[in-house]
Parts: sequence; structure tokens; C-alpha cells
Amino acid sequence: MVLFQRYLLRNLVLQGRRHLGLPRPGKESSTPAWASDKARSPPSRSGSLGYSTSSGIAGVKERTLIAVKPDGVQRRLVGQIVQRFEQRGFRLVGLKMLKASDDLLSQHYHDLSKKPFYPNLLRYMSSGPVVVMVWEGHNVVRTSRMMVGNTNPAEAHAGTIRGDFSIHISRNVVHASDSVEGAQREIQLWFSRKELTDWDCCDHSSTYQV
Ligand code: UDP
Ligand code: MG
Repeated sequence: MVLFQRYLLRNLVLQGRRHLGLPRPGKESSTPAWASDKARSPPSRSGSLGYSTSSGIAGVKERTLIAVKPDGVQRRLVGQIVQRFEQRGFRLVGLKMLKASDDLLSQHYHDLSKKPFYPNLLRYMSSGPVVVMVWEGHNVVRTSRMMVGNTNPAEAHAGTIRGDFSIHISRNVVHASDSVEGAQREIQLWFSRKELTDWDCCDHSSTYQV
């Protein structure tokens, strides 16, 4: 009888621990669940070219192209712009400085070629080096557009990059892809596959629960 009571009591305690999500006694892990490898490493879902697609878990592998334009480089804003994406929690997977050719710029801005400002835009973008980057993370395309702010700095909110560092649409400091498809096209235009580095961010589990 006493044995049966003990058996019932033990089962009740175990059920209670299970209900609270606690491990069975003697099975405690030294790594908390939120920091475990399972929680940290999403499966790799790179596309055939090695560029991530929006199909990653909850878009964690989504990528975008960010460029510090020649005015931003001249005004020594590269560090502050990189810092904003790092501190937000995104992962840098590619970065380089170059003087963009007319050919590259005309492909990059092909959809604006009929706009009256197009010749000035190309002149501006080829006036000095640019720093181009690929950033990765959940919803990075949309979030980075919000971080960059309105195309016209006069309309850009304070706290956005354009709202904090620029005043005129012809010198708006930074570029950000405007869609996931556009980002994939731009990344392939500016970067070769081997220039992009896939790496594990050690604080992944502090940024995501996937
Ligand atoms: N631009 C300009 N005058 C305009 C509109 C755009 O000089 O009236 C330039 C500006 O540098 C802008 C770029 O063209 O960033 C590309 O324009 P888009 O509409 O794609 O804006 P974005 O995506 O950069 O916000
Ligand atoms: Mg655009």
C-alpha cells in the first residue's frame, strides 16, 4: 500500500514537472534550451547560386544589398552605417569598396533609365568609391528600408540613416534593395559567390528562437 502511494506520488510530481516544461530529475542539461545548438542553428537553405532565398525559416536567411554611396564614403559615414546594421542584429556576409563602372551602375539602376534625374544619378554614383555590403537576417529587406528612411531626406524621419545624415534627394548617402527579388538581383550583380561568407553568429539564439 505504502509502495503504491509512493508510486502515485512520484508520477504526480513527474507530470507536474513535465507540465512546467522541466526535465526529468537527473536529466538536467548544462546548456539552457534557449542557448542550445538546436535552437541556434537553422538548417542551411541557400539557393543554387549560394545566395539565400526568402524560403529560409521565417526569412532568417533573407539577404539585402546595402551600399554607402560616394557622399557617405567622402563624409566618413561608413563606420556609423555599418554599426546600425550590426547593432540591429543583422549578419554581415559580404563587404567591399570599389569605384563602380558605368556599366554596373546602369544595370543596377536600369529601371530608372528614363527618369530625368538618371544622368545626374549615374554621375553622382560614379564620382567616388562606394562601400557595398550584403546583410542577412529575418525580414532584412523591409527592416533595412525602414532603417534607411525615405528616398527624399526631407521626408525621412529622424533616427533613420537618411533622416540623420542627409538633406537632399540627390545626395542621400545610402542605397538599400527595395524587395527580396530586387535584392537577389542586386547581390548577384555586385558580388561573386566566393565574395560572400556564410558563418555562424555566436549570439544567434539571443536574436532568434529558430
Ligand atoms: N534620385 C534622385 N532624384 C529623384 C529620385 C531619386 O536623385 O527625384 C536618386 C536618389 O539617389 C535615389 C536613387 O535615385 O536614392 C534611386 O531612386 P529610388 O526611387 O530607387 O530610391 P531609393 O530606392 O534609393 O530610395
Ligand atoms: Mg530603389
